[in-house]
Amino acid sequence: MATTELHEIEKEAQRVVRKAPNLDPPIQVEEIIKVSWPKVHIGAADLGDYHGALVTEGGRAAMYVSQKASTEHRNLILAHLTWHWVRHALRGQIDITRQCLVHVTRPEEPQAAPERDADVFAAELLVPLEVLEKYIDFLPEAQSENDKKIIAGRTVDLARRFAVPVEVMKARLTLFSARRRSFKPKGWTDKKPI
Ligand SMILES: [Zn+2]
Repeated sequence: MATTELHEIEKEAQRVVRKAPNLDPPIQVEEIIKVSWPKVHIGAADLGDYHGALVTEGGRAAMYVSQKASTEHRNLILAHLTWHWVRHALRGQIDITRQCLVHVTRPEEPQAAPERDADVFAAELLVPLEVLEKYIDFLPEAQSENDKKIIAGRTVDLARRFAVPVEVMKARLTLFSARRRSFKPKGWTDKKPI
């Protein structure tokens, strides 16, 4: 299975996030699922080494999150499972059962593509760039060592605010600065060289 185009994943994430009660971070994935698909059961379970699972139980779909997961990871796992749900289950695939590792390094093989897509979707859903922009009060591109220090600190703060792992926030900020090259935080004035 080929990797889905990024813009397609982004579009799907934007469609799903519209059901959020509000867009203030952290994005409430569980609320989105409850509102969008009220019949889907969400629970915690002992999944062994797996992080999340999508199953059908007596004709009803259920999402399970490892009981060992932290709040940040739980959010990410549910967002990841949501991708499988919208892409596979809602498109009539009969066998929706899958157990997932979420946000891990994956082998470069075609079988890993749906999992990679699900991770990308999760990041898109939890940290929409247009929401992220409102919380950026620094230039996301480091120029000096001091900039790097400031950015590292702010990345941790933002990760906490959006309830995602720091690595996810780092990747979102990198994408943000690539997309919004001309971005300047509010009230920012360029320091002109003398
Ligand atoms: Zn998965």
